[in-house]
Amino acid sequence: MRPPILNPLFRPVSSLAGIGPKLAVTLRKLLGGPEPDGEPRAIDLLFHLPVAIIDRSRQPGIALSPEGAIVTLKVRIDRHQKPPRGNRRIPYRVFAHDDTGEIALTFFHANEPWLERMLPVGETRYVSGRMEWFNGRPSMVHPDHMVSEADFRDLPLIEPVYPMTAGLARKTLLKAVADALDGVPDLPEWLDPALLGEHPWPDFAAALRAAHHPEAAADMEPLSPHLSRLAYDELLASQLALALMRAHQRRRSGKARHGDGSLRHKILESLPFSLTGSQKDALAEIDADLRKPERMLRLLQGDVGSGKTVVALLAAAATIEAGAQAAIMAPTELLVRQHARTIAPLADAAGIGVAVLTGRERVAERSRVVAGLADGSIQLLVGTHALFQSGVEFDDLGLVVVDEQHRFGVHQRLALTAKGDATDVLVMTATPIPRTLVLTYYGDMDVSRLTEKPAGRRPIETRAIPLSRLDEVVGRIRAATAAGAKAYWVCPLVEESEVLDVAAAEERYAALDAALGGGVGLVHGRMNAAGRDAEMAKFVSGETKVLVATTVVEVGVDVSDATIMVIEHAERFGLAQLHQLRGRVGRSDRPSVCLLLYRAPLGDIATDRLRIMRESEDGFVIAEEDLRLRGGGEILGTRQSGTPGFRVARLEVHAALMEAARDDARRIVDNDPDLATPRGEALRLLLYLFGRDDAVRLLRAG
Ligand code: ADP
Ligand code: MG
Repeated sequence: MRPPILNPLFRPVSSLAGIGPKLAVTLRKLLGGPEPDGEPRAIDLLFHLPVAIIDRSRQPGIALSPEGAIVTLKVRIDRHQKPPRGNRRIPYRVFAHDDTGEIALTFFHANEPWLERMLPVGETRYVSGRMEWFNGRPSMVHPDHMVSEADFRDLPLIEPVYPMTAGLARKTLLKAVADALDGVPDLPEWLDPALLGEHPWPDFAAALRAAHHPEAAADMEPLSPHLSRLAYDELLASQLALALMRAHQRRRSGKARHGDGSLRHKILESLPFSLTGSQKDALAEIDADLRKPERMLRLLQGDVGSGKTVVALLAAAATIEAGAQAAIMAPTELLVRQHARTIAPLADAAGIGVAVLTGRERVAERSRVVAGLADGSIQLLVGTHALFQSGVEFDDLGLVVVDEQHRFGVHQRLALTAKGDATDVLVMTATPIPRTLVLTYYGDMDVSRLTEKPAGRRPIETRAIPLSRLDEVVGRIRAATAAGAKAYWVCPLVEESEVLDVAAAEERYAALDAALGGGVGLVHGRMNAAGRDAEMAKFVSGETKVLVATTVVEVGVDVSDATIMVIEHAERFGLAQLHQLRGRVGRSDRPSVCLLLYRAPLGDIATDRLRIMRESEDGFVIAEEDLRLRGGGEILGTRQSGTPGFRVARLEVHAALMEAARDDARRIVDNDPDLATPRGEALRLLLYLFGRDDAVRLLRAG
């Protein structure tokens, strides 16, 4: 139960001044809200912080106001010049002056009576807005503010600028924010007094107020006292939730599982390669976890193509040797099928019973699998996450491997890992994540990293080529495919619209197919799974030589003899995505190329990205550069501006706070594991405020 003191913060936005049910729906687009489609709450609005300020404090006088500047002018109204009747294209002009000169205040589609009331001739008014000089004559089109001398005192000279959405007026937003701020209760302090001794931070309520009322550019700095405070609160909430989950899992201890190596031995014998050093190291770490009576909670980080699947299978084998079952989960059906293709022959060779569940099986097949899982005859399940969540019952599930590709938030993952009783968990991620982000997303999970590439891999030659040389590139593909090569051709994201993405891909597909005289395939996100699988199969078998794709190929597709990756409009992709895509080639002992086609001219960040791509193939290096260039958002492949999952904290600037929050969280859980002390009680409020209340539910009652 949420403590009642927080109620004013959790009331629906439609209870705020000026917001009705319709605007509440609009606001959900901007603010999010409780899943699946609940109305945003006051707190969601309060965490919607300004991103800039408009400074109206400049009052240079008319003649000295520079073009384009936002200024505030004290003027005397001289005369109204109405447009000729019936001609709405000519604006309504109001002429005014000060000591330095004359200005035309200009209005299109004017409401005449209103203007006469707002700007009476002979009176003094303050007007504020953007200066425009037309043919050497100063004007201001639709001033933002027009107030009398008496009202000038109330004119905000520094105005916050919020991210907006269509259908929401600025004034409405400001009013609702003001109402929400009025409702912020005084809350007990949850921060460590020692920390507050080191940092001159305001309390939570004051910090929120300051964040919404910036008074100067410095107040927008993420390291300003109030924004640091809010960022720290957010980071602490997240770290504390993770630490509590972890402690909870430790309490419900796992089972020690000792594999005898028999199945694993058979698998290793049928592998056409030997394991890399880092695969062996990771397995040794996993084995040690499995043997402990605690639950394993380990993250396996490895660049694309580093060979995580085999590690997962060998971990599963050890679990199965010890008499339990294992499940390997992937985010998409395509990936499930691919894992199954890799795994099935190896599992067969070892005599392990494997099944696949994606939700598309026929009823009879599904019942067979469900029965096999329940009676234990199926020892290894490869399936989609969704299925696992919808409660397929296992006889004795010992290990879950989650191949997650960032589709999972921390919360979902925690829900998943809280599922089985003594189930060990191995999370695999294909994106090499910088250390600061590992902390955020995985808390104190143990980490294994695959840092070596499997033997025999050749470096990928990466080149950036302007789109104006498209014909040349097509010619090169023609020659290469004629000589037996296979190529991916990735079409870009168009404004988040899948329909447009698909249209672009279809167009490219048609053009390439014509240019190459056939042999081109197409996969995209709007095809059904069967169609996609069929296209993939044709590409694997070589029936098609070029596969045009939207970014569906990004997520771990493995066609090891593909050696060319063309990425069209590479400037529109983030570094992590480019790196992932490039990782689709360079998987054999043949040389591979990656051609980054870009539209000139490139912006600074895009230039940097393409340069980094040409200079490095090391995913960990690229991830660090990515963090530097754009902050956490892009690394996790999302398009949010801040660090995903966070509203205030930005890890590229708040990394030091992150470390402090983690240490703080550990101390709290060591000293007050049930949050029962007065500070603990206050920390519970913090968890609610930042939506980490899953963790509160795990605390022992009382
Ligand atoms: P990812 O880490 O991207 O999931 P995969 O597990 O799909 O990588 O492995 C990529 C390819 O490398 C697969 O074809 C796999 O069989 C192969 N592979 C894995 N480990 C090795 C190794 N030690 N030596 C050679 N090839 C390997
Ligand atoms: Mg993989």
